[in-house]
Amino acid sequence: MSLLSVQEAQERIIHHFKPTETETLSLNQCAGRVLAADILSSDLPLFDNSSVDGFAVQARDLVDASAASPRTLSVVADIPAGSAPNITLAPGQAARIMTGAPIPKGADAVIMVEDTDFDHGASGLAAPEKVKAFKKIKSGENIRTRGMDVKRGRKVLFAGHKLRPQDLGLLAMLGVANVAVFRKPRVALLSSGDELTPVELPLEPGKIRDTNSYTIAALIAEAGCEVLPLGIAPDSREVIQFLFDQAIGMNADAIISTAGVSVGAFDFVKDIIESNGKLDFWRVNMRPGKPLAFGEYRGVRFIGLPGNPVSAFVGFEVFVRPALGRLAGLKTVARSKVKVRLAEAIESDGRESYLRAIVEERDGVLSAKLTGHQGSGNLLSLVQANALLIVPAGVKSLAIGDQIDAWLI
Ligand code: AMP
Ligand code: MG
Repeated sequence: MSLLSVQEAQERIIHHFKPTETETLSLNQCAGRVLAADILSSDLPLFDNSSVDGFAVQARDLVDASAASPRTLSVVADIPAGSAPNITLAPGQAARIMTGAPIPKGADAVIMVEDTDFDHGASGLAAPEKVKAFKKIKSGENIRTRGMDVKRGRKVLFAGHKLRPQDLGLLAMLGVANVAVFRKPRVALLSSGDELTPVELPLEPGKIRDTNSYTIAALIAEAGCEVLPLGIAPDSREVIQFLFDQAIGMNADAIISTAGVSVGAFDFVKDIIESNGKLDFWRVNMRPGKPLAFGEYRGVRFIGLPGNPVSAFVGFEVFVRPALGRLAGLKTVARSKVKVRLAEAIESDGRESYLRAIVEERDGVLSAKLTGHQGSGNLLSLVQANALLIVPAGVKSLAIGDQIDAWLI
């Protein structure tokens, strides 16, 4: 069994994952989906419009206007939002205008209603015949000009970007009703082990709760994939194979399993993969983490995570999340890291280590403290953590105040 660095193992895995095919969805189905094509903008805003409620004017009419010496203009039009004015303002004229309404021809500024004698307290008032302006105004004031935010033709969203709520708003603004996105990957999940009992059933002596099905299913969903739950398999060659075949029948894009990949007498998962596909079995230079199984079952990519709940979680974050990200069409699959400062000294054994920690801001710096003992079955220490500290390979000790990378989880 070869010894691989984390990075080598990540690269070998991700290399085997390609984005799913694309589909076109209506915009309201696209939250959290990954764009499959670049989006070019039109001019935004689409037309010159008013940024305030007030009166569209010619700025040079108001050069001498002040509270002491207001300037009176005749109001020749009323322009609510959504209307298309077909007038041209002449000198001495104004048009009442609402926020977002198109600027009429001839006007080059909008004076706010608050800077006029028009009573803006009441709604539903008809436009006045005349209005007094109490202030001078610069040409262009209170006008949002066509293309001021974005010029036509600019690439505003990119293929491989996961759509957030504000992105959906921008697509709507651009009139993109149907969006090309990558199909949601279908990811089958199996927990294996004779000792495992689902949470609904009574616990018999010697058995434990299946934990990973819940944690890993939620991680898969969070990674933008559909979960195909295969449930729990006992340590039985026939049952495990039967369930993997179900995954094939459901057109899974990937199969993830936990446990059963150690070298124990009952660890059948890797034998099954080996005799029905291809198996790479690696010892990765990391902690926590046992051997990692990677390969394919009847043509479908397979990743076998360790059984211990914390190891399974960390293995998911390190190896599965990037792979599923690639499958889902994401352009950037690496989690972003932050720099934190250690509030306690840390010993490591030279393997790349992912340590559970609480990161808090203290005096403007992110400060990190471990959440108790780092045993790979101690799930509470993961629950209490809001970060995984990444101790690089080769580092055996770190002192208080040292800087280190972390993932916020
Ligand atoms: P294994 O990889 O089968 O040797 O399992 C390693 C450890 O993880 C054992 O203590 C298992 O009982 C435990 N384990 C395996 N699968 C799960 C699971 N789905 N939920 C909770 N613990 C598990
Ligand atoms: Mg086992």
